[in-house]
Amino acid sequence: MLTPRLLIDPNDLTAERSLAAFPSRWSRIGLASLLSFGLACSPERTASPPNDILLISLDTLRADHLSAYGYDRRTSPFIDNLCEESVRFANAYSSASNTAPSHMSLLTGLDPLAHGIRPVGKSKENLTSLSPQTPMLAERLRQVGYQTIGIADNGYVMSSMGFDRGFDAFSNERSSLPYKLTLLSNALKHTNPDLPLFLFFHTYETHAPYLPPPPFHGRFTDPDYDGPFRERYDALASLPVQSAWKEKGKFLETWEGMNETDLDYLRGLYDEGISYTDSNVQRLWDIWSRRRNADETLLIIVSDHGEGFNEHGKLGHKYGLYSELLRVPLIIRNPAFPPSVVEHSVSLTDVVPTIFDFLDLPLEQLQGESFLKSLRGEREPPRSAFSQLNAKRGLHDSVFRDEHHLLRWNREGDEQVELFEHGSEPADSMNVADDRVEVVRELKALLDARKKIGDEHHQLYPNSVGPKITEEERERLEGLGYVEGVGYDEQE
Ligand SMILES: [Zn+2]
Repeated sequence: MLTPRLLIDPNDLTAERSLAAFPSRWSRIGLASLLSFGLACSPERTASPPNDILLISLDTLRADHLSAYGYDRRTSPFIDNLCEESVRFANAYSSASNTAPSHMSLLTGLDPLAHGIRPVGKSKENLTSLSPQTPMLAERLRQVGYQTIGIADNGYVMSSMGFDRGFDAFSNERSSLPYKLTLLSNALKHTNPDLPLFLFFHTYETHAPYLPPPPFHGRFTDPDYDGPFRERYDALASLPVQSAWKEKGKFLETWEGMNETDLDYLRGLYDEGISYTDSNVQRLWDIWSRRRNADETLLIIVSDHGEGFNEHGKLGHKYGLYSELLRVPLIIRNPAFPPSVVEHSVSLTDVVPTIFDFLDLPLEQLQGESFLKSLRGEREPPRSAFSQLNAKRGLHDSVFRDEHHLLRWNREGDEQVELFEHGSEPADSMNVADDRVEVVRELKALLDARKKIGDEHHQLYPNSVGPKITEEERERLEGLGYVEGVGYDEQE
């Protein structure tokens, strides 16, 4: 339940040292000072330090393409093994189907409507920034003594929107995973082993364009395929990562006559990228384990949204709130939690409340609910997972509860609903709203109540106007397909 009361004293926030003081590129960040910052920001050290927290966000990773989630290709051997000693949430849902609002929900425990972060519109000149009175996860953790490091992958996880808030050091540039892991390795050397550490690590490696390097490329794709997706791969695979990244919006453009052979190749590329990412997550975990205590770490692996392969007539992830775009992996490892699979629905907004619950911190100014009981193997009552998409013509929203998924479209006041049941194949393919009037009514009431809370929060803590979008940022976001790219017609 959201409580409209500040957890963090706004005076303290204004006194926060400005991250603008940190140069934007990691290589120029004075990480040697991290140790002293960590010490300076730990007013109340407890006798036994709390667990480290390692939060890994693998952008655009749909759950059902991981072998750990039953996929028939062995895309994720390391994550599969990790699941053997973890709690795996079989039905975790992102709060939005695009990067900025979804990550903000992950890092604030609030719905997109409440925190107000949304993609950049074509005509917008300024970025929207998180209200300075809405605390981020890193700010809260730093207040209780954590050292905080953020490594993000450019695009929308940007400082201008507020994503760097609370981090002692924050790097945000598009770079290869091996490069990022080198940064991480260097950064960890400067952390104090006696102080708890929070690391947020984000990568776009599974986002289009799908460019898996050898030896991963070729594992799941047909070498004899010679259609447009092959041409696009060949054109971009040899470019430096930053150059290829600028073309990503075009990578998923469709054409008349695109067929199942083309889609097979595209899915194969995506799956090869997952394998490549999985191998790097293993390296990340090895690096972490050498510097920090793996058994005193709360490890969370998650994604911000999924990806569509024509299930609803589109590619990418900017066309709605269907299951292929919202069902994401959520895997949590800590020796306090017996390995298990949790079947009930949970949301990315529940991650922050769960971390606070685990650390015994107050659960205030949050919409999500802690699922700590599930982690401990205890039963929980039925839960709902909400998602929202702020589009140009209205707010679309959706809720997963028990075996149902209600999707409500709102286009300039014209409301339409679709109701789907779990187990239908492919997911969300058969609308049964007309046959389940009572279920629709109950779920719409849940959506209305949730929307009301989000509206109230947003009125209390409106967004601030961020800086003007620079040409470089606009170019980068256009390359992502987020300003004028595929499927963007619905979003502002
Ligand atoms: Zn994303």
